[in-house]
Amino acid sequence: MRKLFRLTWISVLVLLLALVLVVFGRAWQAGQQAGVLENVEPLTVTLEAEALAQRLAGALRFPTISYQDPAQIDSGAFRALHAYLKAQFPRVHTHLRQEVISGLSLLYTWPGQDTTLPAVLFMGHQDVVPIATPEAWTHPPFGGVIADGFIWGRGALDDKVSVLGVLEAVEQLLAEGFQPVRTVYLAFGHDEEVGGRYGARRIAEILKARKVSLIAVVDEGGFVVAGVIPGITRPVALVGVAEKGYVSLELRARASGGHSSTPPRQTAIGTLSQAIVTLVENPFPARLEGPTRGLLERLAPYASFGPRIVLANLWLFGPLMKQALARSPAGNASLRTTMAPTIFEAGVKENVLPTHARAVVNFRIFPGETVASVEQRVRALLQGLPVQVNRLEGTGTDPSPVSDFEGEAFRRLAAAIRKARAETPPIVAPYLVPGATDARYFTTLSPNVYRFIGAQITSELLATLHGVDERIPVQEYVLAVRTYYALLRRLSAP
Ligand SMILES: [Zn+2]
Repeated sequence: MRKLFRLTWISVLVLLLALVLVVFGRAWQAGQQAGVLENVEPLTVTLEAEALAQRLAGALRFPTISYQDPAQIDSGAFRALHAYLKAQFPRVHTHLRQEVISGLSLLYTWPGQDTTLPAVLFMGHQDVVPIATPEAWTHPPFGGVIADGFIWGRGALDDKVSVLGVLEAVEQLLAEGFQPVRTVYLAFGHDEEVGGRYGARRIAEILKARKVSLIAVVDEGGFVVAGVIPGITRPVALVGVAEKGYVSLELRARASGGHSSTPPRQTAIGTLSQAIVTLVENPFPARLEGPTRGLLERLAPYASFGPRIVLANLWLFGPLMKQALARSPAGNASLRTTMAPTIFEAGVKENVLPTHARAVVNFRIFPGETVASVEQRVRALLQGLPVQVNRLEGTGTDPSPVSDFEGEAFRRLAAAIRKARAETPPIVAPYLVPGATDARYFTTLSPNVYRFIGAQITSELLATLHGVDERIPVQEYVLAVRTYYALLRRLSAP
């Protein structure tokens, strides 16, 4: 008996030792992959920072605001921007075929030497969101001011940086006599901020009708970040490989109403509150998979040894990692379908019971789930409560497919990004975009839709996007143009 006991203990010890060896072995192995960021050969292209900044600043002076109601759009501002682009990028407008789509969107075609190969598409959008508080801005939102090392104005980050950045890179390549092997398309929509129905969606339909296939699509959606991921000191290029879906559900509770001196047990407000509490207390399952898992795995080689043990062994520490991520709102959003009650209304008088109460809950849907499955889950959770659930009109978009981040196209993209920023090459990693971009319309044309701008952005700057004092550092704009230049070369190669 004692012998058996000893044997069991020995086998437990051996198993534990094996586990420790595997865990440490994987962490060590991950560390060996860090070499990809050493000795990156820098891109050789000379760009005039001052001229680049001036041209972007000039484009920020056109108030190309988009509105849900197309009649409200100032098409004159868009046409003036088109004329400006034509004047600033003469080579582009001589060598590329230009089409105007839906009146204000732009589609350029740069024919490749081999038109039988799948083409490549670069995107951006001309439109910007309105200005809520112009008086709060340091410089006028449509002033296009260059000051303190920044280019200031609405659209500096979202998204004239892409439109001008891509055009700068193409103009430079044309000046060098470069001819792409694959055909290059440039698509600049005019209504991304209001859904992209007439711009990007129409352009995608046109390319589809022309039977165009694309090796890759590059749009906005991710930046280079630094210091936001604990344990990682290197900058990280976050390449959006998928975007979450979107739906808002309306909940309605009805009751008999009456005088508040003799209230019934169940009131409209009470019932609706119960429904919201039920939803909040039953979050959607957290799933450490897809782009989020891919991101953590790409970070592993560059983490200090402690965190690396966890990142390189998600098979073991996955549940721990999920808990850690779920603590921050951004981390939580990268793991699951989120829900946010955004509207709650009921009642007209302080001593009268309302006959109905209404709430709206906004859901951002994780890849793998759908609008229908979210609706189904909400109904199941609220079963038994006298609450009506309806999809809010005009909402309901499934998550995008997840683009490939293991294959050749992503490898080319990653190499180009590192080359463009060779002084401190970033870790290039996939990530899940919490919002929506025009890129989703092109997922049927290419398995490789990447959302990324090659500028490093602090969280302070990120907050200016759609906010006050939107601006981009001149240095980072130059690096974004370098990145487009490198991407154009790499992705248009055979
Ligand atoms: Zn945008």
